[in-house]
Amino acid sequence: MRRFTVPTVRAGHAIGVDLGGTKILAGVVSRDGSVVRRHERPTPQDSQEHVLAELEAAVAELLDESVGAVGFGAPSPIDQTRGLVVRCVNVPLENAPLRDRMHERFGLPVGLDNDANAAAIGEWRAGAGRGADDLVMLTLGTGVGGGVIADAKPFRGANGAGAELGHVVIVHDGRPCHGACTGRGHLEAYVSGSAATAAAREVFGPAADAHRLVRLADEGDAKAKDLLTEIGRYLGSGIGSFANIFAPQLVVLGGGFGVAAYEHLHGPAEEVARREALEPMRGTVRLANAALGTAAGLIGAAFVGFEALDAA
Ligand SMILES: [Zn+2]
Repeated sequence: MRRFTVPTVRAGHAIGVDLGGTKILAGVVSRDGSVVRRHERPTPQDSQEHVLAELEAAVAELLDESVGAVGFGAPSPIDQTRGLVVRCVNVPLENAPLRDRMHERFGLPVGLDNDANAAAIGEWRAGAGRGADDLVMLTLGTGVGGGVIADAKPFRGANGAGAELGHVVIVHDGRPCHGACTGRGHLEAYVSGSAATAAAREVFGPAADAHRLVRLADEGDAKAKDLLTEIGRYLGSGIGSFANIFAPQLVVLGGGFGVAAYEHLHGPAEEVARREALEPMRGTVRLANAALGTAAGLIGAAFVGFEALDAA
């Protein structure tokens, strides 16, 4: 097995890897959050071993002497004690010992986190949340991911499984949630890109989806604007509760749908969030569009790598 030397000084770079349902996005990132080099390859769908091999290949492609650590963001709850990816919905990984395997392969400190936690860390260190000690991030994509920075530290909950903010109840006994989630009325069932696609199809027919909905609203279509306003108001119900719990300085909206629909969602979301929030949160709750786009996850994953390096 090929081994690499662990640098004894604070290394200048970490490799961040964002594992998505269709793509593995990787990059060499410096401590100020700038991405020095990138690499992208498809996510295999056939087996766990193939996914792990492709993750290794993505790291190997970028590795050089400047790299002191590796961090991964995976779309799954994480078991931080054992360094496991517990179970992904869209990728064939279950109880995958990612941390030990990558540490053995590369001989570097390895950090592991949920993909939305990683995106929150990325936006906090290098994006829209720079300078904020307390922020909440919601990623609106196929599902709804959540990440929290509390008192200038990533909040991970017991054993690293938090903060699944997409799976809080906003409507008692409401719509069934998605995938493996058995819950009802969860935020994800109302404000994800998938929920937007379902709503768009009801109004505009089976060919419509979330992208088309946003495009129609951008063009001024009244029905499309109404649908996005409704989604924004549901989002505000969740954000009002998160404001009451975490008192964040900032709520960052990310994910493909969240970023694309931001101009339509943020007004109604803020209005409802202010209604639900107590003072002083009512006066301070503020939404921001994610600044790092699709790179938030890999940049945040690199900071999770730096965290492992600094703890080593
Ligand atoms: Zn759910």
